[in-house]
Amino acid sequence: MTTKTILYIEDDPASRLLVERALKHAGYRMLIAERGLEGMDIARREGPDLILTDINLPDMSGREISTRLRSDERFENTPIVALTAQSFDEYRHLAMAAGINGYLTKPIDIETLPEKIEYYLKGGRDDIDSEVLTKAQSKYAQEVVHRLETRIRELEDINTTLRRLDNMKDSFIQLTAHELRTPLTLVYGYSRLIEDNDAVKALLATNPDVAVLVTGLIESIERMQSIIDEILTISRIVTNQIDLSVGPTNLRRLIEKVIAEYEDAIQQRGLTLHFEDQDWPEKMQADSDLLQLTFSNLISNAIKYTPDGGHIYLSATPNEQNIKICVRDTGIGIDAKEQQNIFERFHTVHDPQLHSTSKTAFCGGGLGLGLAICKGIVEAHNGKIWVESAGQDHEKFPGSKFFLELPIMAAKERVVLS
Ligand code: ADP
Repeated sequence: MTTKTILYIEDDPASRLLVERALKHAGYRMLIAERGLEGMDIARREGPDLILTDINLPDMSGREISTRLRSDERFENTPIVALTAQSFDEYRHLAMAAGINGYLTKPIDIETLPEKIEYYLKGGRDDIDSEVLTKAQSKYAQEVVHRLETRIRELEDINTTLRRLDNMKDSFIQLTAHELRTPLTLVYGYSRLIEDNDAVKALLATNPDVAVLVTGLIESIERMQSIIDEILTISRIVTNQIDLSVGPTNLRRLIEKVIAEYEDAIQQRGLTLHFEDQDWPEKMQADSDLLQLTFSNLISNAIKYTPDGGHIYLSATPNEQNIKICVRDTGIGIDAKEQQNIFERFHTVHDPQLHSTSKTAFCGGGLGLGLAICKGIVEAHNGKIWVESAGQDHEKFPGSKFFLELPIMAAKERVVLS
């Protein structure tokens, strides 16, 4: 005789231990779950010969488990037996209305339990008068709908709380970034004054070590400023406070400016940037500063995620209304399952251990804000941004293509994001 498998769903440890022992002793293979959802997952995965379940479970009732499993044809004929402390007839009828075959009550009679299980395994079921069953079915349907309504209300309350906390967090981030920016601007100003001071200039000219220290100091402050600006921009985007200042924009010139920004890094990393400059519109309506930030982020990413010696291609295909831009690199690429997520704020794919404040070090990922900012800006222009890549591979370097589609003339002055 093949060993039969029984799935027992029970949140009370004492009952679990008792029943598991007794049924194992009687020769059954036992699967155990402490919660309803877990039990259903095990049932679907293992296909047990019988399911024994408590009625009152923390997440869902044994009746609901039965109703849910009966809707799956694999469990149409699987014996489902309740083992519960609810001994009133009314509960037994409700259980049978939910498709439960047998109803056993606690305290558990360990001596007779295996026999009863055997009875249900052989197709046995508890009797119930058909009229009583019909009444119980309608009561059970009402109970399910009532519970559903209660759950929806609970979830709505939780959702309201979560939104409130999320708003609080956004305000906190925004406020902190503002507070940090003010003293940092002062520090930056002072550092510039130091650099311009005649005595310091003389010292810098004669002492290269001091010159390295001062340059390092100013570069670090600039980097901190750009991180704070990134945080403020994303805060404005998520709190619908992004104001486009739309005006005539020479996109070709704008891209050239961004390229110039990264020229040194491109050279240091041995990368080649291919810029097909003929198709870029010179007259478009857009927010130049925000578009510059978008391309700066995309090109910085292309540099960061492409190994030394790789290539970056920038191309544009205009039509009457839109311009389609592609920033392609020969870098590590992005897995399909991450291609949506990377546009969410604070989402990074890399190992956080590799986090770096450099905008150009290979794989030195940042805060995970760059692409969220790009998306916010592009959508504020009524445009689209997406990525295509054959997956991530640190040896074969499949590369990534970031596409942007932007209206040439139709951007709105004030955009409220949904
Ligand atoms: P980060 O500041 O971490 O670069 P982004 O929002 O710009 O944040 O990017 C999010 C994540 O998307 C990055 O952490 C990286 O894993 C992935 N990513 C972005 N651009 C590229 C690219 N060109 N190639 C490969 N991965 C990329």
